Amino acid sequence: MRYVAELALVSLLIHSSTDRSLWCAEAGGIKEPKGSKVSVLNKDLFPRFISRNKLVLMEFYAPWCGHCQELAPKYREAADILSGMRKELPVPVKFAKLDDSDEYNREGRFGAEDMYNFSSYPALFVFRNGEMESPYYGGREVDDIVFWMAALARGQDPIEEEKYGRPGLYKHRHDIVWDLAPENFNATILAPASVDNTLHVVEFYSDRCPFCKSLEPEIVRAQEALLDEFGRDAPKAQISALNSRIFHDTATEQGVTGYPWVAAFYNGAKIEDMAGLGGWESVVNFAKRKLDEHYDASLGEPRPYSPASYSQEPEWVQAQRAADKILKEKCLAAGCKWEFAECEEGCDLGEGAGAEAETAVDDAATSVQVSASGESTAASSSKTAATPVAIQELKENPTAEDVDKGAAWRATLGRQTWFFLHTLAAKYPEHPSEVDKRTMRNLVAALGQHYPCKLCREHLKLKLMDPELGPVRVENRQELASWFCQLHNMVNLDTGKNYQHDCTPFNLDLQYLKDCGECEGPGADKKAREMDIKGRGGVSVASEREVFDARLYAKDVAQLEAEASEAKEAIIALKKRIANLEKENRKLKQ
Ligand SMILES: Cc1cc2nc3c(=O)[nH]c(=O)nc-3n(C[C@H](O)[C@H](O)[C@H](O)COP(=O)(O)OP(=O)(O)OC[C@H]3O[C@@H](n4cnc5c(N)ncnc54)[C@H](O)[C@@H]3O)c2cc1C
Repeated sequence: MRYVAELALVSLLIHSSTDRSLWCAEAGGIKEPKGSKVSVLNKDLFPRFISRNKLVLMEFYAPWCGHCQELAPKYREAADILSGMRKELPVPVKFAKLDDSDEYNREGRFGAEDMYNFSSYPALFVFRNGEMESPYYGGREVDDIVFWMAALARGQDPIEEEKYGRPGLYKHRHDIVWDLAPENFNATILAPASVDNTLHVVEFYSDRCPFCKSLEPEIVRAQEALLDEFGRDAPKAQISALNSRIFHDTATEQGVTGYPWVAAFYNGAKIEDMAGLGGWESVVNFAKRKLDEHYDASLGEPRPYSPASYSQEPEWVQAQRAADKILKEKCLAAGCKWEFAECEEGCDLGEGAGAEAETAVDDAATSVQVSASGESTAASSSKTAATPVAIQELKENPTAEDVDKGAAWRATLGRQTWFFLHTLAAKYPEHPSEVDKRTMRNLVAALGQHYPCKLCREHLKLKLMDPELGPVRVENRQELASWFCQLHNMVNLDTGKNYQHDCTPFNLDLQYLKDCGECEGPGADKKAREMDIKGRGGVSVASEREVFDARLYAKDVAQLEAEASEAKEAIIALKKRIANLEKENRKLKQ
């Protein structure tokens, strides 16, 4: 019956106009109200819709998925706004969605590896001219979706556009709160007290986070209060802000892992992350407390503020554009894909392409270095702090200055990750189950995929494929410990350390087979359970722990459900078949 209905619908589409109201499958999923600009597809409508529309944002969802339900009204609103922008965009943007959990639609195998390869909902993809162009990497708020899809419709790279556009919550109040960027962050916030005797309070924010938006007037008010108290020309305490959504690397270097996040800096270093962020008074009190604890008047006068030096678009933006342009041309000429300011991995750009791009940076950048006095000075060298981190990281021969910049963060991350990995190996089972082995391999694969330092990650991937290291040795605890040790030794060599660790099991156990006392040993489980029960308002979660199944985390839940129902059906069919056979058998015997 259902097939008949689908067939009728498809033939209706083929033989009638392309009115969007027809792009509506019968769906039991999250319903679209009348007039919605989101087309509801099923597996039959999908290919036609995609091929008929030049630019499509496509959502694969499941009605039971909370994030999908949350996204639905925003998705709808964004579709509506973009539909209204039809005249100003060179290409119309269409929105569609498909209930991928629907049994009928699952025949389309949209999530399969050879299709769009997704394992969670909602899965969003951009389709252009009938082909999947890329996953959708933009934000999930209405503005984010509109911004991203409008940029794509204009043929722009949304990530580049955001960086160049440098959105900031405090741009309009620059005279009060300094909206910083990577090129002036260190010179402003980390200046030694001998040149800048100012306590800096920095709010790391996201211009898209609703709470950050409501905090903005409070932060401005806090700075007003500090100016009133300490004088307007050169206050002892100054509040600045950094859009860490855009300038993520700069925020991470300061140990910032979320937003809004407030921290105090003095005399070239971070002194404290603020706890208990509330309204404007909480920020003022925090600043005053830190002044009381740290301020040393003998180090000089506070630095007068010169907002002009922060209000211009920096030269590196132009330099970056010039370099990107060259690389993009080379990349496209080599027949490769240029996506999000990077050429596809493994593309042969021809000799000297990188050097040419660097020369473009040199030529274009009469870099603006913000001097310690807060004024701009033109520097003729391109390899100044004004060069964006992304370029520095990928340079084959970085200068000592380049290396210094990201090194501290990289080292902290590295040290702690190594400690985690060696400890993990030391406590891996002597007789691992198949699930233990599989999840450990997954963990290593995830490191190669997600290790948060891009430079290290690229090196790591090469090592993981190096036959000298070989596949992850998951057969037992000692094998695994020695495998991680060998990997670490390879990285040691690679990073110029003339050091090779002793990888004997005894030595590794001595160093890493420790515990925190409370984590293991008698009573630890009970204690953990008590803590959990307390932490969850008295509801016991012991049963959750008992049924923990790593496969649930390594696999897509919808896929597992489908497999389970397939298995059930197979069992029922088998039982029927057995019953029939037994019946026939009985007849034959009679
Ligand atoms: C997966 C990964 C890839 C990395 N890639 C890079 C990279 O490409 N470029 C880069 O600059 N940095 C990289 N790092 C960071 C780098 O390895 C160091 O962590 C960082 O330079 C800090 O070095 P460290 O001298 O404090 O000692 P670390 O190398 O961090 O070691 C910490 C401690 O571990 C012990 N140790 C040393 N070697 C071994 C071993 N083989 N087995 C067991 N224990 C050992 C020593 O006691 C040492 O003090 C990477 C880190 C990781 C986790």
